[in-house]
Amino acid sequence: MESHLTMYITLVVTSGVLSVFLCIYAFSKRKHLLAARQLALLTALQSIYIFGFAFELSSDSLDEIKRWIAVEYIGIAFTPVVGLLLVLRYIGRSLSRAATAALFVIPSITLILVATNDFHGLFYKLIYLRENTPSPMADMVIGKWYIVHGAYTFGSLLAGGVMLLRQWKKTNKAYRKHLVTLAGGQFIPMIASFLYLMGITPYGMDIVPIVLCGTSAMYLWALLSIQMLRLSPIAKESLFESMREGVLVLDQSERLTDYNGAAKKMLPELEMGMIGHSLDSVWRKLTGEDFPIQRGADGMQGHLQRGHGATRSEYEVRSSTIKRQGGEALGCLLMLIDVTEQRQLQEQLKQQAYYDALTGIMNRARFIRQSRALLQEADPIRPSASLILFDIDHFKGFNDTYGHETGDAVLLHTVSACRDQLPDNCLFARYGGEEFVVFMPASEQSEALEAANRLRSAIEAAQLETEFGSLTVTASFGVAAYRSGDTLEVLLREADSALYEAKRLGRNRVSVFHKESPAPA
Ligand code: GH3
Ligand code: MG
Ligand code: MG
Repeated sequence: MESHLTMYITLVVTSGVLSVFLCIYAFSKRKHLLAARQLALLTALQSIYIFGFAFELSSDSLDEIKRWIAVEYIGIAFTPVVGLLLVLRYIGRSLSRAATAALFVIPSITLILVATNDFHGLFYKLIYLRENTPSPMADMVIGKWYIVHGAYTFGSLLAGGVMLLRQWKKTNKAYRKHLVTLAGGQFIPMIASFLYLMGITPYGMDIVPIVLCGTSAMYLWALLSIQMLRLSPIAKESLFESMREGVLVLDQSERLTDYNGAAKKMLPELEMGMIGHSLDSVWRKLTGEDFPIQRGADGMQGHLQRGHGATRSEYEVRSSTIKRQGGEALGCLLMLIDVTEQRQLQEQLKQQAYYDALTGIMNRARFIRQSRALLQEADPIRPSASLILFDIDHFKGFNDTYGHETGDAVLLHTVSACRDQLPDNCLFARYGGEEFVVFMPASEQSEALEAANRLRSAIEAAQLETEFGSLTVTASFGVAAYRSGDTLEVLLREADSALYEAKRLGRNRVSVFHKESPAPA
């Protein structure tokens, strides 16, 4: 028995030392580990209990035993409450200060009553030395408060365990083993003390002090590994939510399984109720149409437009497959990238590069490129094309008399007077200040002459209403027709020469360039 006692004390002390280590570790992690403060306090209390118990076992007299029992109760009385606080912290519930303090009332009374038991016998009615033991051991007859203490301890452990198990459904599968471990930490000491009280532990030993160190280690394992597990889903979730790209998560049957905040912003009608529905049916609810992007070998790739005018948005859509580690496809991410601004900018740049800022018609550079291309495409057997160059008469006068703004209005007015007069396949451009050019593909000189006359009359007929009254604008025209071997430059030069001739002959007229010399029409 003596050797068993030594072995037992050794086990208890080992458990105590481990408990102290756990306490130091938890304390050192108090800022970074969930519920670490509660775990540190719990293991500190357990260490006091365990070492107190070891000293009780090695005591020489009843008085000494009583003193160590009082020390043990610092731990025994408060451990269940601190365990409960740890569970509450883990499940994310917090108690008010008053409620927390209330939890400590009964353990405090227990501690006081144990320490002062000799005076009232409320905790132990009787405490006496067991007979025939190699070293002194005490037996007790329990008092009234012992029952209160026992019920409170049992109640706290049970409450903690039940609270943990109630999280089962809410808890992601990956975290369930931690839940079980933590609940085990509540139930195992309870079971251990039952076994002890029923007298079925080896040699009638109290195994609780030994078991406690194990349960603390279980707590530590659970909290540490949860910490590691928690970070990665949280990081992914916050990345998902902070993305500027809208993301729709689709399963293998193209059913919507999730979407992020950016997607909700792009498609405000998107709602949680649509989760589980097919992409086509979700899209039909959002837009009244099937999802417009075709599924190719590389997944989906294309453009989407939503809204009109100022509220128009454009999205580039790309899908990427979600694969399990083994390579098996699970579904896909549909990424919506807002390219509205980029498109507008591209459109603006194109506008600036190709079109005249004031009148909105083609600019000179674009005209030259386009008409040169048309010339090259001309029918090789009967090639024909014509060019009209025209210049507003005495335009400087409008500027000088009425100001630059009226000058601009004259330019706009001239363009709008011409627009309806030109065949669709023509190129119409602002060639310079108040000079315009028309390229007519597949047109003989006669057609060009007719068109030039139409333009001239239209400009003259259309009155420009200004604050200075009604203004008449006229223009002079030069026409040149393509002959085999001509370049665009030749045509431009000839039309310019005819235009010069029209000016010379008195303006507001059309001149045609003739091979020998330009002549009035
Ligand atoms: P002509 O009948 O011989 O063609 O005489 P004109 O006065 O029309 O010709 P001129 O070349 O002497 O004057 C053209 C003027 O057009 C000079 C220039 O300041 C003005 N101008 C060029 N571009 C613009 C413009 O965008 N807006 C305005 N308001 N004036 C312009
Ligand atoms: Mg002019
Ligand atoms: Mg001019």
